This record gives sequence, structure tokens and C-alpha cells, in this order.
Amino acid sequence: MTTLLTDTPITRLFIDGEWRDGRGGGTFPVIDPATGEIIADFAIATENDCDDAVRAAEAAFPRWSQTAPRERADILMAAFEILRAEKELFAEIMVRENGKSWPDAIAEAGYATEFFRWFAEEAVRVPGDFRLSPAGDKRIVVARQPMGVALLITPWNFPAAMATRKLAPALAAGCTTILKPARETPLTAAYVVDVLRRAGVPTGVVNLVTPVPTGPAVARMIAHPAVRKLSFTGSTEVGRVLLRECADSIVSASMELGGNAPVIVLPDADLDDTIPAALAAKMRNGGSACTAANRFYVHSSLHDEFVDRMAAELSAVRTGSGLDRDNTLGALVSLAERDKVASLVDVAVAEGARVVVGGARMPDGAFYAATLLDGVRHGDSITRQEIFGPVTAVISYDDVEDAIRMANDTEFGLVGYVFGPEREALRVALRLETGMVAVNRGVLSDPAAPFGGSKQSGLGREGSSEGILEYLEEKYIALDA
Ligand code: NAD
Repeated sequence: MTTLLTDTPITRLFIDGEWRDGRGGGTFPVIDPATGEIIADFAIATENDCDDAVRAAEAAFPRWSQTAPRERADILMAAFEILRAEKELFAEIMVRENGKSWPDAIAEAGYATEFFRWFAEEAVRVPGDFRLSPAGDKRIVVARQPMGVALLITPWNFPAAMATRKLAPALAAGCTTILKPARETPLTAAYVVDVLRRAGVPTGVVNLVTPVPTGPAVARMIAHPAVRKLSFTGSTEVGRVLLRECADSIVSASMELGGNAPVIVLPDADLDDTIPAALAAKMRNGGSACTAANRFYVHSSLHDEFVDRMAAELSAVRTGSGLDRDNTLGALVSLAERDKVASLVDVAVAEGARVVVGGARMPDGAFYAATLLDGVRHGDSITRQEIFGPVTAVISYDDVEDAIRMANDTEFGLVGYVFGPEREALRVALRLETGMVAVNRGVLSDPAAPFGGSKQSGLGREGSSEGILEYLEEKYIALDA
């Protein structure tokens, strides 16, 4: 096993251009879930540290927001180049603190890095408008200006990409930022922030805080008058709490929340193409993805063959630490997450599902075996919750209309998957109540595409040209015609 991580990853807060300990002096442990080993003690941010971060971002805003777009773009491009050169180190930090497999970590490193390039390119292409009013009495000028201080809150499952998907557009737009990563994965966030420092981001423009407990410190930052934007990725439950907090001070909120992705395998789907893509949709990031396929509705004519072939693939999965680069399934982020997955499977079995493959915790570390459940019925608990682990739940159906109805029977609406002849699949895709649909593909994320959900999966879009608009406010200026 190779290791690139030095003995001293960054374990401190970054406030006003300096790495520093929290004012209270406390730390929390960062644990490698594959081994249970404590790999770092990370500084706890007190509420005073969070106040300092907001003040630093507020003080840096007037200057940063006035920099030329090309200057901001150059810094983002420099960060892109550093991350591209350090891809393996970037991936290894994620392997260690998150438990990812090496292929998942390296894929995330590449995806995360691309946001800096994409938004370096978008920084210089922010659109405006200049038109004549219908009555001909005035010119309508619309300018787009950065909102102000942006608070960016990220989850543990994609600790790099969720951070860069927010930092890059916020910085490109001219906002100053405070990043608050998940407690499980602060090292990746600290590394990304340090890359931005090395790329030349000025003092106060990027800050990093890790408050424990999280809720009160975040509420206080949202209530600060300088904070004008919240961008949150995480569970719908926490998103709801934060939206309420934003309401009090009318803070603009972008929300990337939970999913419960349906997969519809149509009667004439070609299983040679479908199986590898379905496997990727389920097993990418060990199933710990908001986009992970959660419920497989498979037409009865293909059901038996689908189950046999998926079972064969899942039995061949190599599970273990991502430091062994041949393993394809890593650990869950913690024993608690592993136990959540285990109890979902136990309940599914009690409700009548049959374990075809897997269905068990592994002896050491936070690992859960790649699992296939057959005989699941729509409405069973496992079809109502985000599994967030390597468990494939198969439901057989006879009528495509029923499959569409079942797919849409959820409060979530992030992503759906459809497999089958393209014309029919497109027809079904248009009827899915989700922000995104992958047709005959297992993975759809792309920095150039608008990522986001409908229903209770979110508000707003990240990536694409829409991503930067989330950090810009329109200003209408009326001129005499
Ligand atoms: P989570 O909601 O528990 O935590 C997300 C972040 O919010 C973390 O930084 C956490 O520390 C913080 N947080 C928790 N409680 C808070 C509170 N009361 N006030 C302020 N901040 C608080 O989510 P998680 O377990 O880290 O991540 C998994 C969830 O994220 C899943 O539901 C997944 O679907 C979702 N997710 C969504 C997307 C997307 O783009 N839609 C992407 C990745 C993950």
C-alpha cells in the first residue's frame, strides 16, 4: 500500500488568511472508518471563531468583489492546476477520512478539480442585459453583482466535490466565503482551502470553520447581517432547519438535499448495456451518494435475468480499504452509518425481501457487503428511505405506467434512471418528477450540467452556467431612453 499523506495534514481553522487553533483550544477526532484509527485531531471552532470568520469575509468583500473577473479566473485556474498535479494526494486524503475506495476517490478528485476550471471559464462570461422598455420610455439595464458573504455547508459523502462545487462559483462571482465541512471529513476541506491559499486567494476571501456543536454556530452565522447567501448540501431534514433560519433574515438559500432515486428498466432494455450502468448508478461511492440508485423497478420479462446478472456482478466486488487500490468497495463513513444500512436491510427482510447476495456487516471496519435484495415491494421501508449504502433493492413490475407512478411516489425528486430503447426512455424521463434523469447511463454528474433537485430534494442548481448565478444578484438600472 502506498501512502502520500504526510504525518501532518492540516488540522486547523483558516480565518483571515491564517491557520489557527480554535479559541477554546478543543479538538475532535478524525477517524479512518476502514480501521477505526484516529488519524487527526481537528480544531473545534467556537462561536467567537465563527464570528471572526464572518468579519474577515465581510472585510474582504469590497475589494474581492471589485477585482477583475479575469483576476478571479486566474486564481481559480491556478487552483485547478495544483489539484491536477496533486490528484493522488487529494484522493488519498478522502480515502483516509471518508473510507472511499481508491477508484471512487480518484474519480471524485478529478470531478472536484474540474469545478475550478469550469468556473474560471464562467467568471468571465457573466451575462447582463440592456433593452428598451415596451413603452419606449426607458432603457432597462440589468447588471449582476455578487451577493456578499456566502456560507457554504457540505456533507461527508463527497467532501471534495461538494466543496469545490460551491467555492468555485462563489469565488468566480466575487463573493467571499466561509466553508463549513462535515465533521467526519474536515481534512479534505482544509486541503482544498490550502490549495486556494497557494493559488493566491487574498486574505479573508476563503475561511474554514468546524464548529462543534454545529447547529448554534451555524444559526448565528446565518443571522449575521453580512451573510447574504447560504449554499447547503446535505440531508433534507437539516436543509429544512436551515431554510427556516434563512427566513428570519431573508438570506438567499441554495439547497442540494437528499434523494431516493428510482431506476426503471423498460421491457425492451438491453441488459448488456443496462447491467454495467445500473451497477455504477448503485455502487458509485459505495452507494453513499445523493444520486445513488435506491429502487430498481425492473419489468417482469427481464426480472430474473437482471437479478442473476446483478448478483454475479455484486458477488465479484472487492471490499476493503481504499489504500489497496484494487478494492472497489470502500467503508461506510462510520460504524453508525454502517449500522443504519444494516438495519434497513434487516427491516426489508422482515417485510418479506430475500437476500440474494451479501446482507451482512464485515468483521473489521465500517464495511457492509455489496447486497442484492429481491422481492421488495413498492412501499416497503427500504423504498421510502435513502439507503446510502451498497444495497440494491429490486421490485418487479408489469405495466410501465405503474412503474412511473411508483417512481414518482416520493417526496424526493433529485434524479431518476431509465434504461430501454431511447425514444421510449426519453418519454418516461420527461414524466419523472426529478431535477435530473440519466437515460441508459449510470453516472450523469458533470460540472457543465445543471445539478439539482425538484420537490424536497432541493432549490437551485449547481454547476453549469446556472451555478454562478446562485451567487449573483440582479440589479435593474433604469435609464432614460
Ligand atoms: P447532514 O445533513 O447530516 O449534514 C450536512 C452538513 O450539515 C454537515 O456539514 C453537518 O455538519 C451540517 N449540519 C448538521 N446539522 C446541522 C444543523 N443543525 N445546522 C447546521 N448545519 C448542520 O448530511 P450528511 O449526513 O453529511 O450527508 C448525507 C446527506 O447529504 C444525504 O441526505 C445526501 O442525499 C445529501 N447529499 C445531497 C447532495 C445533493 O447534491 N443533492 C450531494 C451529496 C449529499
